[in-house]
Amino acid sequence: MTQTEIPEDHPRYASLVTRHRIEAGVEKGITSKQGLIAQGRGEAFDYLLGERTLPSADRAARAAAATLLAADRPVISVNGNVAALAPAETVELADAVDADLEVNLFNHTDERVRRIADHLREHGADAVKGLAADGEIPGLSHARGTVDADGIEAADVVVVPLEDGDRAEALDAMGKTEIVVDLNPGSRSPRTADVPIVDNLVRAVPNVTAHARDLADASPAELREALDAFDAAEALTAAEAAIRSGAFDRGAADAA
Ligand code: ATP
Repeated sequence: MTQTEIPEDHPRYASLVTRHRIEAGVEKGITSKQGLIAQGRGEAFDYLLGERTLPSADRAARAAAATLLAADRPVISVNGNVAALAPAETVELADAVDADLEVNLFNHTDERVRRIADHLREHGADAVKGLAADGEIPGLSHARGTVDADGIEAADVVVVPLEDGDRAEALDAMGKTEIVVDLNPGSRSPRTADVPIVDNLVRAVPNVTAHARDLADASPAELREALDAFDAAEALTAAEAAIRSGAFDRGAADAA
């Protein structure tokens, strides 16, 4: 079944479209096979969340937008799942907050970095970093710690959607301000993040862009206000509570 063959009135339409994007990403050589497993874990958490953006995740998205707009050198890290799921939306976010895009892979191969960079360009990106691979995240092995010296290595704020916990911790140790998108509030990456957005990437990325557009003319004081309205620990607790107390009587969850 291709994406266009999924009937739009199917109760699990959004989830099925997402799944097929990842499948297509694997076929195109931009998503790793491990990416399929990550997708499965994400789907399970999203199902329990009711496939919706929690109010706390929306506040996180606004805080993320404010953080990015106030940053000097923001970089959005793109892996194979991000490229498959939301390429155009990620490029739009980078434009909205004037951030660099950098391909950064857990299972790094030059070939896959190139394919992802091409894929992002096909979706409107001008410049994509990640090919120089002349910098490093200290404390990680070469394959997992390779970044661009004028990209993630030099960034003050990094958006690391779907990041692995080890790397999120190593970036934190470098002093980066981290914005993480992850559906599992118990995962190390959102627990390490300054701004954890516990939401599906396909909802979170456009939501951060919408908040960034809304805050585009905000004063530093207004940006600070958006940040102060957000409490990372409270957001993780709210997401966990929503997952643990979720009822299986929602429309989307019913028809699975
Ligand atoms: P950690 O090392 O931080 O504990 P982990 O082992 O849970 O991380 P992975 O095995 O890499 O991390 O799993 C991928 C993570 O990405 C999972 O937490 C999953 O919920 C999340 N995830 C997968 N797809 C999405 C998505 N579309 N949107 C948001 N999060 C997602």
